[in-house]
Parts: sequence; structure tokens; C-alpha cells
Amino acid sequence: MAEAVAAGTELDVYAAQTASCTRCRLAEGRTQVVFGNGDPNADLMFVGEAPGFHEDKQGFPFVGQAGKLLDQLLGGIGLARDMVFVANVLKCRPPGNRDPMPDEIEACESHLFRQVELIQPKVVATLGNFSTKLLSGKPLGITRVHGQVQQVTLGGRSVLLYPLYHPAAALYTPSMLEVLKEDFARIPDLLGQVVEPVPEPEPLRVAEPAVQLGLF
Ligand code: URA
Repeated sequence: MAEAVAAGTELDVYAAQTASCTRCRLAEGRTQVVFGNGDPNADLMFVGEAPGFHEDKQGFPFVGQAGKLLDQLLGGIGLARDMVFVANVLKCRPPGNRDPMPDEIEACESHLFRQVELIQPKVVATLGNFSTKLLSGKPLGITRVHGQVQQVTLGGRSVLLYPLYHPAAALYTPSMLEVLKEDFARIPDLLGQVVEPVPEPEPLRVAEPAVQLGLF
């Protein structure tokens, strides 16, 4: 079994609990749960779709061709895999790498929300349609929204959601790869950007009884 995250963190404890998850049918066919890995205190988190064949075998996200491209793109902005945290919407491999099903996403989503809560990233970059729709809470597809920053509340905190094309799609479409590189180039700016807290609603003002203040 792969050691998913550095020992000793609260995230590590959560990873250990998640390793025996049986919330959906994917538990039956998986080799292991692919929790995610990287820096448990990362400012930048990536969320892909689901583990594929190699991820299922090795226990880590993005270890195949798409992962190699992700590494290259990270290198292009001066980052390495161990400086970010990488996870997926689904923690278990769908058979034949089919798309995640709505009930599987629903069963698994609280694992992702808990990860965001514990990691507290400033920027969550969603890779492709599934993570973008789930974390934005909107049905708009990646072609419409890639490269457009959205301020959202995740894990009780305000974070910048940054939708990107999925590297696996960009591998085979040169024009998409160009756009992905351009969108990636904006990440350093986003990481330097201060995230304004979402304003609390104005508290109700209760009229106070007038107090007569004496001068002396
Ligand atoms: N594609 C994903 O979305 N996630 C992985 O972990 C690998 C490929």
C-alpha cells in the first residue's frame, strides 16, 4: 500500500480512515483508495477527476502521462509536485476509466471537502469538468470557464477556484495544451493575491435606550 501523505498530520489520520471507505460500488473493484498526496499545508491544490489504471496500482494521483504533463506545467511556473497537493473528485478508480457517476460523486464528495478543510489552500485549481462543476456548484463546463477565477467558500473558507483543462485532454489536442499553458502561467499571480474574506451579513442593530450623559 502507498503511504498517501506525510505522517503525523491530521490529513494523514483522515487518509488512514478513508483507506477502508465502502461508501460506493467502486470499493469492490479498486486495488486501493487513492487519497491524494503532496504538501498537507499547500497554498495550491489541484483536483482531478478519478484515479486511472496506474494511479489505482500505485496509490498516488496523476502518475501516468497526464501526471507527467502536470509535472511539466508545474515546473514551468517554478513549482514541484511536493509543493502542492493533488487529489481527485473520486478516490477510487471507475472500471475501464469510465466517467464518474453522479451517485459516486455524491458518496465521495465529503472526502474532498474535508481535504480542502484540512489543507486550507488559497487556490484550488480544478482539472476538467467534473471537479469544476462540483466545486463551483455550477453546471458550466470547462470550455466556458477555464482560466476564470471564481471566489468560492470551501471548507468554511474563502478560496480562489481556478478551472483548468484536464491535462489528459490537453495531451492529445495541441491547441488545448497552449491554452492550458497560458492559464497555468497566471497561477503565481493568483497565489500572491490576497483572498478577501467573504463579508459576514450585517448584524441586526437593536435600538439601544437613550442614556442621558451627565457632564460631570
Ligand atoms: N486523471 C485524473 O483525473 N486523476 C488522476 O489521478 C489521473 C488521471
